[in-house]
Amino acid sequence: MLGAARHTGADMKTILAEKGLDSHGANWQERLDAVGADDVERALAEPPGSYRLQRLSALISPAAEDYLEEMAQSAHELTVQRFGRTIRLYAPVYLSNYCTNACMYCGFNRENKFERTRLNIDHAIEEASIVASEGFRDLLLVSGEDRQFITVDYLAELAQRLRGKFSSISIEIYQMSTAEYARLFEAGIDGVTLYQETYDRNAYGYYHLAGPKSDYDHRLSAADSIAAAGMREVGLGALLGLTDWRAETLALAEHAHHIIKRYWQSHVSFSFPRLRPAYQVQETQFSPFSDRNLVQMMTALRLCFADVGMVLSTRERAALRDNLISLGVTKLSAGSRTSPGGYSGRTEATGQFQIDDNRSPAEVAAMIKQRGFEPVWKDWDKAFQDPRTI
Ligand code: SF4
Repeated sequence: MLGAARHTGADMKTILAEKGLDSHGANWQERLDAVGADDVERALAEPPGSYRLQRLSALISPAAEDYLEEMAQSAHELTVQRFGRTIRLYAPVYLSNYCTNACMYCGFNRENKFERTRLNIDHAIEEASIVASEGFRDLLLVSGEDRQFITVDYLAELAQRLRGKFSSISIEIYQMSTAEYARLFEAGIDGVTLYQETYDRNAYGYYHLAGPKSDYDHRLSAADSIAAAGMREVGLGALLGLTDWRAETLALAEHAHHIIKRYWQSHVSFSFPRLRPAYQVQETQFSPFSDRNLVQMMTALRLCFADVGMVLSTRERAALRDNLISLGVTKLSAGSRTSPGGYSGRTEATGQFQIDDNRSPAEVAAMIKQRGFEPVWKDWDKAFQDPRTI
């Protein structure tokens, strides 16, 4: 399985460079502005779920804003056809807010001065047990880049001790090698989410001032490493609000297309993290990204990728999340705490960002039912693939 590591980030680097998507210059702006109503209608008439960069360009163009209702209806139908009327629920557990990076948009930025917190393995299990007692069987472990304490050994032991309680354990942690991901897969971690944050090389340099994450090309190779290790789920995303969202959507789609083509065993999902207020972060420095932009981005991607998962977190406000679940979302977080120790309340640690949907998991589940969908707490896909997990 590790042999697939021959597909390195260089492939992705070349793809983006050849299409001019590693810089969001005037080139793409002009092409998107030149899209007309006829182009959008032709794109909408193409078979649902078919991806071509040109088709996606038409669907995310300014001209397609007049077709949002039609796009939303088609995205809804396609999602129900492929996923049924189900929404998976998950919860994050934060392990550490130490970080060696200096990302300008994040409260955990190493330059920010506050008392940092790390959970030892017993405390992490206590947090995860609270999440399990609320009904969740899908767990996301999150941490800043704290390699000294949140080591691969730590994560492997934690996963081994938690795997009986959860049907799926995934991580959103610092970038690792294929061999390290493979070790975690063996220990029971089956998914990794790692955002490029921005595909625009210049903007990437501007926002990532220091630390291992400041290497754009290395970051771009992460999804290949994750998939080459055999991970079942590879989560991709761009942090919305850093640069022009339309160009980011095109680059994100090319990234997904690249992974889907090369790694048959991995399922790709998109997240839509929008910048949120965070400790010592100035909101005024970010690009605008409206709710309508989010709807257009989600529905356009769904129309081009019928089978990808779509994840929406509690960064978004409740009313918007309620409306978006019928447009392509397949997975929602609920009742989230974004600080280490946030569920047990045994620490008063600083969170990564502010959440905007403060409802309890039970309230979110009730809302999903009210909207005619079924909340799913357990990852049944995995159970069907591996009978030992039932
Ligand atoms: S975004 Fe991640 S890597 Fe960057 S400062 Fe925050 S926790 Fe650290």
